[in-house]
Amino acid sequence: MPLNDSLEGTRVAITIDDIPDHGDLPPGMSRMDIANGLVRSLKDNGIDQAFGFTNGSFMPENSAELGIFKIWLDAGYPLGNHTFDHPNLNEVGAKVFIANIAKQERLLATLSSYSPLIRERFMFRYPYLDEGDTLSKRNAVRAYLAKNHYRIAEVTTDYYDWAWTDAYTRCLNAHDQKSIDWMMTHVGDDADQSLRASNAISMRLFGRRIPHILLMHDGAFDVLTLDGILKRWHNQGVQFISLKEALADPVYSINPNYAYQDGMNLLDQVAAARHIDLSDLEPAEYSIDRINEFCKAAPAH
Ligand SMILES: [Zn+2]
Repeated sequence: MPLNDSLEGTRVAITIDDIPDHGDLPPGMSRMDIANGLVRSLKDNGIDQAFGFTNGSFMPENSAELGIFKIWLDAGYPLGNHTFDHPNLNEVGAKVFIANIAKQERLLATLSSYSPLIRERFMFRYPYLDEGDTLSKRNAVRAYLAKNHYRIAEVTTDYYDWAWTDAYTRCLNAHDQKSIDWMMTHVGDDADQSLRASNAISMRLFGRRIPHILLMHDGAFDVLTLDGILKRWHNQGVQFISLKEALADPVYSINPNYAYQDGMNLLDQVAAARHIDLSDLEPAEYSIDRINEFCKAAPAH
C-alpha cells in the first residue's frame, strides 16, 4: 500500500507563493504579522533555506508592503518572480504575461542594493500552475524565461493550503469555532497524506522518490499551522533541502511539453503527457471539494 509508506528520508524544498498578499486577512491580523509568523515558524524548525515567490500589485497604493519583502530577505530567504499581477497565462496570452514577468523583475531589482539575495530573483513560479493551454503560449513564455536566465520552480507537492486559508477566514466570519478546531486538528493529517501521495506518484512515474518542491502560500491559516506541520514532518524523518538542491535533480529538467488548463504540477503534467493514470493515488480524504464545504453558508460580511 504505497499511500501508507513512511515519510522517512523524503526530501522537501519549501516554497512560499503570493508574498506579500495571499488570501483574505482575518480580523486583527496584518500582512506583516503573517510574514513574521511564517518566518518564525521556519526558523524555529531549523529551516534555513526556503524560497519566496512575489507579486507586486500592491504597488503603488500599499507601497509599505515592500517592507514584507525585506522581512523575508532579512531572514535569509531569497525571493523569486511570480509575476506582478498574478495573471493566468491561459487568459491573458504570452505577450501580456511576459510583460508582467518583466514588470515584477524591475520591482525586485529595486531591492538590489538592499540585499545580495536579490541576485537570486531569476527563479519563476507560474501563477495557478498554469503553463499554457496551447503549446504556442507555453513555448513563448519558456523561451523568454530561458533567454533571461530564469529557472522554472516547478511544484511536485502541496496540500491545498490556500483552500484551508479560504475556509478558515470563512469560518472566522461565521464565528464557527467548532469547524476551526476541526481544521486545526486535521490539516497536518492532510499534509502527511498529500506528501505520501506525492512519493507514491514519484515512484510510479520515475521508479524512485524524487526531492519534492512544496508549494504553500503566504496565508493566514499557514501562520497558525506551519509550525505543527514542520514538526510532524521532522518527527517522521522528512529532510528539508533548498530549492536549488531540489532543482539539481534531473527530474526538474524534464519538459513535459504538454498544454493544459486548470493548473497542474510537474508530476501531473508528466503523467498526462505519458498517459499514466494517477487517479488511484490521489489523497481523497481531504479533497478541495471537502475543504471548500467548510462554513460555505457563512453570510457575507
Ligand atoms: Zn500564486
